[in-house]
Formats: sequence, structure tokens, C-alpha cells
Amino acid sequence: MSENTPLLRVENLVKYYPVRTGIFSAGRRTVKAVNGISFTIDRGKTFGLVGESGCGKSTAGRAILNLVEPDRGAVSLAGRDIYNSETGLRLRGAAMHRARRDMQIIFQDPYASLDPRMSIGQAVAEGIEKHRLARGKGALELAGEVLEKCGIGRESFLRYPHEFSGGQRQRVGIARALALKPAFIVADEPIAALDVSVQAQILNLMSELQEDYDLTYLFISHDLGVVRYFCDSIGVMYLGRLVETGSRKHLFEEPVHPYTQALLSAVPVEKPWEKRNRIKLTGELPSPADLPRGCVFHTRCPHAGEICRTETPGEEQVREGHRVSCHRWRETGNFATGINI
Ligand code: SF4
Repeated sequence: MSENTPLLRVENLVKYYPVRTGIFSAGRRTVKAVNGISFTIDRGKTFGLVGESGCGKSTAGRAILNLVEPDRGAVSLAGRDIYNSETGLRLRGAAMHRARRDMQIIFQDPYASLDPRMSIGQAVAEGIEKHRLARGKGALELAGEVLEKCGIGRESFLRYPHEFSGGQRQRVGIARALALKPAFIVADEPIAALDVSVQAQILNLMSELQEDYDLTYLFISHDLGVVRYFCDSIGVMYLGRLVETGSRKHLFEEPVHPYTQALLSAVPVEKPWEKRNRIKLTGELPSPADLPRGCVFHTRCPHAGEICRTETPGEEQVREGHRVSCHRWRETGNFATGINI
């Protein structure tokens, strides 16, 4: 892998789901959950995937990890193909098992992924054994080390998931992922279910681990306030598409897509007394099973014009590393967010 190869490369990733349209009708529609997204993440960096609930960001995270099978596109990790619909590559069985060691996930609700009958020591050691990193006593020893690294003392090793608080359980979830020494972790809303007081502790832990183990994160969140402090670059998703991607600084200070601007106009700022343009989105969020023609955002966009209703905008470069899908970004670009990075 050359020094300039991104750790993760996602190209035109697509995941559709067929759905029935009524209890009695035999009609079928397609939910375009992920509709051709592309981005890269450099080693040791964090890419934030943001958008409203139902925009497809969690499905994207799972499709990248092959936890749900993508329909089209390509995913590579450290220059090695994990999935490629053009060449027909789909890792399965032992090959997928090996690849999965390098690509882990932290869930929003770690409790759901922990076996209530297993102590947390066993839960972490189980993954270590499955991936043959160590066996028996060695696996337990390694599990203890990783749990300690994540802030869970060895005295808790034999305790069960229900004996821990939400924040502690998330530490266990992180330890389970970390124990396999992955290069890449998808963190799917990892702090959304936690008390505000605990959220910062978990983010600090993730930052420390990133430093210590050179981890690369895909951080999925609906909360731009969190993404602002945690991510190096950001992609904004709307109805299965990435509408704008760029560095944290460019996205927060100079967003050009009307949807990004609307989301940012609602983020609290340091000087709330300064006048800001608050953009209130009107109109219903369209169903992902019945996407509008043209730009998918046109039913709610305050700048929508004739072309927006008929033609899907292609991706254009605003500046290096800053891309947008909007017909009118040159006219809408001058928007003050009141946020300084
Ligand atoms: Fe709005 Fe048109 Fe741009 Fe879509 S393409 S975001 S409708 S201005």
C-alpha cells in the first residue's frame, strides 16, 4: 500500500431493499437506502457521516462492513478489495472472517450485542479466540488488558452486562472491537443513547485509542454538534445520497449545499446574540421508497428551480476535497454559519 492510499475507499456503494406496498396488494417498491455514495478516509482519521434519521447512514456503515450485502459498488481497505461488483469480488466464509478482524463496529446499544449470560471478560475473550489471536488463559489475559485500556478494571472481569451502566457497557463494546486490533472501526451513533455527562468521556476514550492504535473511524451521527468536535472530514447524507463532503472546516464554515446550510443553521453557536440566518425546512421528508425526480432535496429546498425538478445534479468540486451535488451551489454558496473552527 503506498503512503497516499486512503485506508478506506468506498465507490458508488448501493444498497436497495424491496418492500411490499400494502398488506393486501401484491405491489412492490424499492427503498433506495444507499444510492451510490463515494468517499475515502485516510489512515488515523475520522470521517463523520451525518444526516437525519432514515437517511441511510447506518445502512451505509453496515454495507461497508459487509454486515448487509451491498448491491453494487466497491469497498477497499488498505488497498485490498473487500467488495467489488465490477470484478464480482464478494468475500465469503474464511476470507470474510479474516477481513472482519480489521474492520469492527461499535453499536449505539452495546447491550443488545452482549450475551447477558456471559461475563464481560468472557465476552471480550470470545472474539479473541474466534479470531485465533490467543486461546484459553492467554485470551482472558488479553481481554483483561484491553478492558483496562478502555477504563474497566480487572475487578469487574467476572461481572455481567446488566451490572454495568450505559457508559460502562459502551466501554465494553469498544473493548470488544479493539481486542481484535482492527485498523478501521465503524462507530454507529456510539454516544446517542448515553447521558450527556458520559458522552464526552466516551469520545475522549475513542480519541485516546485512535492516537495509541492509529485507528481510522467512520463516525455515524445525527448530531452535528458532536461531529464538529470529533471528525476530520464530513459527509452529509440525504435520502441515500451524499450531498456534500469536505473537511470539517470547510463544511462548518462555508457549506454550499442548501441542506447542509439548513442543518448547520440549527447548531448552537458560541455567540448566540449575533444575528444568524436560521433556515427552517418546510415540506415532508419524502419516502425513500418513492424518491422525487431530479434533485431528491427539491421538495424542501428554498432555492429549488426548474432544473432541480427534472435533472439529478452530478457531483462537482468546490475546492480540493470539498464536493457538492447541487445545480445551484455557485448561487447558494455565500452563507454565513456563524461557526468558526
Ligand atoms: Fe436545492 Fe436545486 Fe441544489 Fe437540489 S439542486 S439542493 S433543489 S438548489
